[in-house]
Amino acid sequence: CGIVGYIGQKSAQDIVLEGLHSLEYRGYDSAGMAGIMDGQMHVVKEAGKLTALEEALKKHPLDTNMAIGHTRWATHGRPERANAHPHQSADGKIALVHNGIIENYEELRDRYLQGETFTSNTDSEIVAHVIAHFYQGDLLEAVRRTLKEVRGSYALAIISADEPDTMVICRMNSPLVLGVGDKEMLVASGVPALLKYTRECIYLENGDLAKLTTSGYDIVDLDGNPCQREMVHIDWED
Ligand code: GLU
Repeated sequence: CGIVGYIGQKSAQDIVLEGLHSLEYRGYDSAGMAGIMDGQMHVVKEAGKLTALEEALKKHPLDTNMAIGHTRWATHGRPERANAHPHQSADGKIALVHNGIIENYEELRDRYLQGETFTSNTDSEIVAHVIAHFYQGDLLEAVRRTLKEVRGSYALAIISADEPDTMVICRMNSPLVLGVGDKEMLVASGVPALLKYTRECIYLENGDLAKLTTSGYDIVDLDGNPCQREMVHIDWED
């Protein structure tokens, strides 16, 4: 339902939480966040309101400059903690947040993930496992390979403990906006989550994938060809 991601110099946890709050009006049943500390992926998530996530983050703070967060509106799997996003690959290294519906998740599971066990009943977790299946040292490429096989709607933000300075985002029939700041990048499913930090936005188009670092972004299509997208200045008030 709601996606917010941050990569930059500041405390990612606070910015992502604030962004999720600004998208709260859309409704949700659970919330979570992921970040990389000391080379390990850390995921904090709870059923219920963002206040429950905030309490959990007090016990287990994500002290990082990159994080992805999510508020979930369940489509596959009950609204409970195990089904909350972020979801991880089997080895825990890759974490993602997903809005939308993966229509062929059972087919993907049977084709690529024989014998693997899952911690949720979501369509989204399958995508995290398939990305790990294709991962050979380049997260963007693994995501691109995966999306070539995926049918459905998605906005995704993905991070890997093997590439702690990179975030990959992509979309198909589900909104996702990139906010370009000064040595920081934000991503969100809705513009309100970005406005406090930047007014320079790029509305990703269907089939766009982007690789974000603190210093910039690269956008490619599903075949890996570079794309140029217009930067839009948002001048309305939040
Ligand atoms: N289909 C996913 C799930 O059920 C994502 C739901 C959403 O868009 O929040 O977990």
